[in-house]
Parts: sequence; C-alpha cells; structure tokens
Amino acid sequence: MNDQENSQACSNHKEKICCDGNLFIISAPSGAGKTTLCKAVLDRIPNMLYSVSYTTRKPRKGEQNGIDYYFITKDDFKNRIKNGKWAEWAEVYGNYYGTSSEFIDKGLAAGSDILLDIDFQGTLQILDQYHDSITIFIMPPSLDILKLRLESRETDSKHVISRRIDAAEKEMKNKDFYRHVIINDKLSVAVADLISVIEKYRTGRNNKSF
Ligand code: 5GP
Repeated sequence: MNDQENSQACSNHKEKICCDGNLFIISAPSGAGKTTLCKAVLDRIPNMLYSVSYTTRKPRKGEQNGIDYYFITKDDFKNRIKNGKWAEWAEVYGNYYGTSSEFIDKGLAAGSDILLDIDFQGTLQILDQYHDSITIFIMPPSLDILKLRLESRETDSKHVISRRIDAAEKEMKNKDFYRHVIINDKLSVAVADLISVIEKYRTGRNNKSF
C-alpha cells in the first residue's frame, strides 16, 4: 500500500493495523494531577503530540488559547458538531469539550503518537472508532486529598469544588474499565509509572513527527 492509500485506509477504518501512531487516552477526576503528568510526559517523550481540546468554558487564570484549550463559543462548537468535526465530544459541568478528528487522523496517519486528556464519555467514543487506543486512568490517593488539592488551586468556588468531588467519586467508579491505572500520590513516582507504560507501547517503533 502506498502512502496515499495507507492514509485513505486510516481515515476510512480508523484501525491501528494501517497506522503507525498510538493513541494514549488519559482520564482522571479534576485535581488528580493529570495536567501536570501530561506535561511531564510531553517534556520527556520526543515526538509525542498533545491533542489540545476545544471547550466552551471560560479560560482559568494562566490558561492560554491554543495551548491549554482552544476556547470557542457554544455556537461555533455546535456548528462543528453539525459538520462532523469531532472525533468525540461531551458536555461536562455545563460546558462542551471536544477533540478534533482532523488532528487525530492526520497525526496517526503520519505515524505520530498522540496523547488525549479526555473524560470517560469521550474515552468510550474514541474507543468505538480507534479500537487500539491505550487507556490510562489517573487516581488521586484519596477523595480527601483530592479535595485539598482542588481547594489549594484557588480557581473554583466551594460550590464548584463540591460538584467536582461528587463527579470525581462517580468517575473513579470507571477506573477498572481502563487498561492501566496509576495512583498519583508522589508526583515523581506517578510520572515514572506513566512514562514506563507509554514507553512499553512505543518500544521498537520508529517514531516520526508530522
Ligand atoms: P477542566 O475544565 O477541569 O479542564 O476539564 C473538565 C473535564 O473535561 C476533565 O475531566 C477533562 O478530562 C475533560 N475534558 C477535557 N477536554 C476534553 C475533551 O476534549 N473531550 C472530553 N470528552 N472531555 C474533555
């Protein structure tokens, strides 16, 4: 199969058989340290692409458009639903979040590994299309520690924090669905665990970036 046929087959079937790249899906309740862990992975693993999600929520302090998220309006988001632009999308805490199909398909077809930071609803949708995705769940050591972490971030009101704790309890019930579970107690240990899981799937591959 030549490159053009290969790429065409990828976008038709979205099966890994014809693509070199791996999709790594990371999920965690907010406050479990997922963003820090993803950044550590991206710093240390060459040629790993990060799928910057699109969201309709407002940026938090320090968040940058195009780096943390693409911040778009609800109208824009809904138009993209109509036009089939999302590989997956979900409504979380009253806001929409989505992953660009084009980014994923181009990256995989070019042989790149891609890191997705999405929730459980999104994970199910991605697995439905990209069957060989590698799923990883990050757990906080306990709900009490998660609450302390969310409070110390000082980005959310008490009401939002309590909603996030309730959601975290529910999300953590899905952990056994994931292929790998990593407990983020000591950050350096969790980073090493996560990198070792990812490297296992990359070993022996000739990674290319696109
Ligand atoms: P936050 O607003 O705290 O950044 O994220 C809230 C939740 O939305 C987190 O659980 C995060 O994983 C999830 N999320 C972020 N981006 C996406 C996405 O593109 N798709 C889905 N399904 N969930 C996302």
